[in-house]
Amino acid sequence: MAVILLMATVVILAAAVAYPLIERAAGRAPLTADDVLGSSPEPSGSTGEAGGDIPAGAAGPNDDIPAITRLDPALRAAVRHAADDAHAAGIDLWITSGWRSPAYQQSLYDEAIRTKGLAEARRTVATPETSQHVSGNAVDIGPTEGAYWLIQHGTDYGLCQVYANEIWHFELLTTPGGTCPPMHDDAES
Ligand SMILES: [Zn+2]
Repeated sequence: MAVILLMATVVILAAAVAYPLIERAAGRAPLTADDVLGSSPEPSGSTGEAGGDIPAGAAGPNDDIPAITRLDPALRAAVRHAADDAHAAGIDLWITSGWRSPAYQQSLYDEAIRTKGLAEARRTVATPETSQHVSGNAVDIGPTEGAYWLIQHGTDYGLCQVYANEIWHFELLTTPGGTCPPMHDDAES
C-alpha cells in the first residue's frame, strides 16, 4: 500500500512539473516573474543588450532578451497576438525597440540633442523620466508595413498609436475592440 501511495505521489508530482513546461512549449503559458523581470538584478544603469538595446534591430515577442522580457506582460501578450494575426494575414511585424533602461533612454536623448538640437530632440525623444519604454509600457514596431497594419488593426488588441509623428510607437491604452485616446502631435505635447 505504501508503495502504491508513493508511486501515485511521484506521478502527481511529475505531472505538476511537466504540465507548465508543455503549456510553455505550446506558447500558452502565462508569463512568470522571470519573464517579466529578466535575469539582471539592477538594470537601470545598463546599456547594450542588458539595457534594452536589440542588437539585431528586430525582435519577436517571445525573444528572451531584456528589451522583451521586461515589457509589461499584458503589452507583450497583446503584441504577440497581433503579430500572430498579422503573420496569418501575410504581414511581418516585429519589435524594433521595447523596454529601455534609464541609461539607454538617456543616451538616445543625448544623441538626439547632438544630432538634431534641443528643440527637435524634445519633440522626438522622451526623457528617462517620461518615456513609456523605460516603464516597459511601449513598443516600437517595424517594418513600416507592419506598423501600418497595426495602425489599422491595433485596437482589436488594445494597442494604440500614441504620437502622430511616430507611426511605429504603440502602447496598450484601451481594451480589445475599444477606442484609443486622442493622439498627441509629438513627444513634447
Ligand atoms: Zn517608441
